Amino acid sequence: MEFRCIDECSQCCIEREYYPNKKFGKIGVLILPEEKERIERLAKMNSLDIKILPRIGISNDRNSTPTKILAYQMMGVEKNGNTCPFLDTQSGDKSPHNGFPCKIYNDRPLACRTYPLIESDPITLDEKCKFCKEHKTADRNLNSEAESLLKIKEQMDTDSPFIWRFATEIGETEDSNMFESGWFLEE
Ligand code: SF4
Ligand code: SF4
Repeated sequence: MEFRCIDECSQCCIEREYYPNKKFGKIGVLILPEEKERIERLAKMNSLDIKILPRIGISNDRNSTPTKILAYQMMGVEKNGNTCPFLDTQSGDKSPHNGFPCKIYNDRPLACRTYPLIESDPITLDEKCKFCKEHKTADRNLNSEAESLLKIKEQMDTDSPFIWRFATEIGETEDSNMFESGWFLEE
């Protein structure tokens, strides 16, 4: 089956998940270090305030904090962490599949070009994607997603002994007593 977005869906640009669990708060759109400056420039050009937090860091010493950032994340604009700042929910314009359009579609981050593909061999799609909920999987029309996934994996490949994950302290008000903030070593 060919992958194509479900008519009127914008779910992946709106809904943010807790990952790996509520302690870490909701995650944002993954931004590679090489993309950060470009995304910040695009935000300025669109007169948007964006918030980019670290996401994954590495170090050679378990007692230090990360010495290098492998990935950042762009947070949503809502208090609960949802809704990408670049999603155009106001103008009434529509994307080709009738969802809300992305203001930087041709320049969007690699993570957005990859979604909903999370593994390419074998093809594995994110089960939260609306297409996947309806059709389970697809085997066609995923070439550009696979290319983008490969680039992200190459950029994030590391043999560093210690990997750190950043807790965002962002999410639903009723969950706020579970949030932590800052860096945690992956065990
Ligand atoms: S990738 Fe999935 S969740 Fe995102 S807009 Fe398309 S169908 Fe919806
Ligand atoms: S940058 Fe564009 S494609 Fe990516 S999450 Fe935001 S609105 Fe969606």
